[in-house]
Order: sequence, then structure tokens, then C-alpha cells
Amino acid sequence: MLDNVGTAAPVLILLGPPGAGKGTQARVLEEKFGLVQLSTGDLLRAAVAAGTEAGLAAKAVMEAGDLVSDEIVINILRDRLQDDDCAKGVILDGFPRTTVQAEALDVLLAESGQKINAAISLEVEDAAMVTRISGRYTCGACGEGYHDEFKQPAKDGVCDKCGGTEMKRRADDNAETVASRLEAYHAQTAPLIAYYDGKGALQTVDAMGDIKAIAGNLSAIVEKATA
Ligand code: ADP
Ligand code: ADP
Ligand code: ZN
Repeated sequence: MLDNVGTAAPVLILLGPPGAGKGTQARVLEEKFGLVQLSTGDLLRAAVAAGTEAGLAAKAVMEAGDLVSDEIVINILRDRLQDDDCAKGVILDGFPRTTVQAEALDVLLAESGQKINAAISLEVEDAAMVTRISGRYTCGACGEGYHDEFKQPAKDGVCDKCGGTEMKRRADDNAETVASRLEAYHAQTAPLIAYYDGKGALQTVDAMGDIKAIAGNLSAIVEKATA
């Protein structure tokens, strides 16, 4: 991590309920701005697959659609932020999700002389979330996200990005879990909108439209926030 405030690498946060398009848009921004996408959901799923202690503790919680403990998530994120590639700048996707996590992030960034350039809230209607989440799948090889209706690869079953043919669906992407995940979002994560507004870092984007149009609006915000 850089320790000089003047040359600190950008830190962007994408806020929004499950299925808002955080992962989809983070990948676009990653490519366009040369930043690193950090998804705590992906890091936790990797820990579950690897059977680490944190993964074992997180598995059932994730399957129930509840939030994993702040301690586990903060530790995972802190470790990942220390990797060399993060010096390019990061897009946090799915973190922070609680006030405790937001405060821990402030401390972590202060320690390395960094600051948040923008916390961007993706605004979506709850009613759209079930359709978005139940149609979601990703390429097993490169992680590119797709949707049965809204984002299909050019050739059915073949990833546009890497040619991979193994598509995966998440265990927690079902109608029952979506309700708990939305509840967790409104109770624990939505208060972060006011938290970042209070710091003057909040930006909002209408995330109900077309993926490309939203990406254009987000890029304009990121360009300004990192200039
Ligand atoms: P999040 O990371 O916020 O949970 P994703 O980026 O994984 O959300 O998007 C959820 C699903 O909705 C994916 O299948 C994705 O392809 C699709 N999606 C993302 N953005 C849009 C959009 N603007 N309109 C329609 N579908 C979208
Ligand atoms: P989505 O954006 O669709 O909600 P994620 O991949 O971001 O999905 O997260 C999947 C699950 O992982 C969450 O429902 C939660 O159980 C856990 N998780 C991810 N990030 C966090 C976090 N910052 N704090 C607590 N739990 C988290
Ligand atoms: Zn792929």
C-alpha cells in the first residue's frame, strides 16, 4: 500500500443491495481505470471452497443469506489489501456492509495514508432484485457475470471474455435467500449511505437501466472522483 497521501491510489466503494449490479459494474471499471476489484463475497466463497477456518464459519451464514461476522470479513479484506496489486487502486464491491466495517475501513486507509475517493450507491427497486438474482450465473474460469435474460453471452454457454464453457450458479441465489439478503441490506448496509454522505463522499447512480448506460454514468463519476 502507498503511504504518501499526495500519490495515494484511488479507493472507490460500490454500495447497493444484492443484485444491484455491483460486480458487473466493478469489472467494467476495473478494466477501464486499471483498478482492482475486491469483492468480499468472492473472497468468502474462495475461503469456503478452500475450507479455511473463516470459510467453515462463513458457509452456513452465507447460505442463509445473513451477514458474515465483521471480524471475519475485516480480516479477509485487510489481508487482501496488503497484496501488491492493490497499490494500483481498488474498487470495493460488497464491502463495507455494516457501520463497524466502514469504521474499520477508515482506520485501515488512514494507516496507509489513503482516503475514499467516492462511495457510489447503485439505486435499484427491491422488486427487480429477485429476477436479477435468480437469473444470475458466472463463468467458472474468469468470473464474468451473465444473466439468463439481461446479459447473455454471444454464443450460448460460452464465455465472451475467455471462451470458458463451465458456467456456475451460486448456492445462495434463490428466491428464499433473496428475502433475507434484502432484509440484511436495509437493516445493516443502507445506513452507510448516510455515513458516506456525512463525509461528503457519497454519489448516487440510477441502476435500473441498461448495463452499458449505467457504466457510462459510473465512469463519469469515477473520472471526476479520481482526477
Ligand atoms: P451484485 O454484485 O450487486 O450482487 P451483479 O453485478 O452480480 O450484482 O448483477 C446481478 C445480476 O443482474 C447478474 O446476472 C447481472 O448480469 C444482472 N445485471 C447487472 N446489472 C444489470 C442491469 N442494469 N439490468 C439488468 N440486469 C443486470
Ligand atoms: P450480493 O452482492 O449478491 O449480495 P456477495 O457476493 O457480495 O453477494 O455476498 C454474498 C454473501 O457473502 C452475503 O450474503 C454475505 O453472507 C457474505 N458477505 C459478503 N460480503 C460481506 C460483508 N462485507 N460483510 C458480511 N457478509 C458479507
Ligand atoms: Zn470467462
